[in-house]
Amino acid sequence: MSDFKPADQIQDLQFFGEFGGVNPSITDSSTYTFLKAKTMAGVFDGEIDGCYLYSRHWNPSNKHLSQALASMEGSESALVTASGMAAISSAIMQVCKAGDEIVASRTIYGGTYAFLKNFLPQFGIHTKFVNSNNKKQVESAIGPNTKLIYCETMSNPMLEINNIKELSDLSKAHNCMLMVDNTFSPLIFSPLSLGADVVVYSLTKFINGMSDCVAGAICASTDFINSLYDVNNGAAMLLGPVLDGLRSASILKNMRTLHIRMKQHSHNAFYLANKLQTDGYKITYPGLENHPQHTLIKEMGNNDFGYGGLFVLDMKTKEIANEFMELMQEENVGYLAVSLGSYKTLFSAPGGSTSSEIPEEERNTMGLTEGLVRISIGLDDDIERTYQKMSKCLQSVKQKV
Ligand code: PLP
Repeated sequence: MSDFKPADQIQDLQFFGEFGGVNPSITDSSTYTFLKAKTMAGVFDGEIDGCYLYSRHWNPSNKHLSQALASMEGSESALVTASGMAAISSAIMQVCKAGDEIVASRTIYGGTYAFLKNFLPQFGIHTKFVNSNNKKQVESAIGPNTKLIYCETMSNPMLEINNIKELSDLSKAHNCMLMVDNTFSPLIFSPLSLGADVVVYSLTKFINGMSDCVAGAICASTDFINSLYDVNNGAAMLLGPVLDGLRSASILKNMRTLHIRMKQHSHNAFYLANKLQTDGYKITYPGLENHPQHTLIKEMGNNDFGYGGLFVLDMKTKEIANEFMELMQEENVGYLAVSLGSYKTLFSAPGGSTSSEIPEEERNTMGLTEGLVRISIGLDDDIERTYQKMSKCLQSVKQKV
C-alpha cells in the first residue's frame, strides 16, 4: 500500500466557474477567437501556451476533467477521450510503430484483445499474449523489439490482479513501457505509484458511474500526453477521438462522489461473494481468501476502497447462466446488460459477450468458461435484501448447478 491518497486529491480539486460558480463553466464551443492573427500562429506552432484554438486539440471542459484525473492518478498530465477503446488504441499507437512488439496479458477486455490481435498487425505491430502473473513467461516473451507491456490491474472478467511493481521492474530492465488499464479498480490501485508508465481508463464504468455516457482517459507524463496531441504526429490529435466538452463537465461532477461509491460497491460485492461462497457456490472475488492474488491486492491496493465491485459466479453451463440472469432481472436484482461500475447491478455472461472476441481455446486456458456470470454490484443500501433475492434465483436453478 502506498502513501498516495487518491480520494484526497479529488477532494482538493478547486476549479472556479466563470462567474464564481462552484463548478467550472462549460465551454460549448468548437473553435476560439483571437484578437491578433500572430497569436493564433504562435499557438499552432506550440510557442504560446494557455490559449484554446480548436476543441479537438483542447477545450476548457476537457482540460478540467483531465486535470482531475491526473490528480487522482498522481500523473503529471492526462488526456480524456471519447471512449475507453479510444484511450487504449491512441495510447498504444503512440508508443508502437511498424516492427514493434507488445507483450500483453491474456486476460484483458475482449475489445482490447481484438485490437491487439486483429487490428494492429495490419500496421506491422504484433502482440504476444502471456499469463502476466507468471514472471518467467512475461520475461521470456520480451524480445529486442518489445516496446510495451500491457495489462489490466484487475482483469476483465477473471478478476486476476497483476503485480504492477514486478511488471514495472521487468519493463525497466528491458527498456520498454508498462501500460495498465485500471478501469475495474479506480482508487483501489494507483498503478503509477507502483511503477507503471501509462494508465488508461474507460470512464464509462466506475469513474462516471451513471451508465449515461461512454468516455476514456490516458494518464501519463506531460511529455507523453503532449506527444499524443502533437499536430504533426499525435495519435489523439490525428485519429480525433475527442470527448464532447458537455460530457466532460458531467463526468467531472460524478467523479466527486467516486470514493463513496467505490467503498459501497466493494462493501456490497464482498458481502455477497462471502455469503454465496459459504452457501457452496463457486465464486471468484479478490476479497476472498481463496482468490490466488488475495495477498497481493492487500499489499498493492489502497485498502480503504476494498476489493472491488465485481465478482464472478460459476453457473457451469451457458443455459443455466442465462436462466439465472433472466430470473435476476425479473426479481429486479439488476439489469442483464454488459458494462459495469453502475449505480444499479449489471450482469452478463462474458464468454458469449464482452470476451467473445477471445478464441474459445484461449478462453478455456484462462478458465473463462461459458457458464460464468460476471456481476457488477450496484450501490444497494440493504445488501442483505439483495442477497435474499439472489439466493431465491439461485435456489430456482440450484438442482442444475
Ligand atoms: N477496458 C476495460 C477493462 C473494459 O472493461 C472496457 C469495456 O468494457 C474497455 C476498456 C473499453 O471501454 P469503452 O467501452 O469505454 O470503450
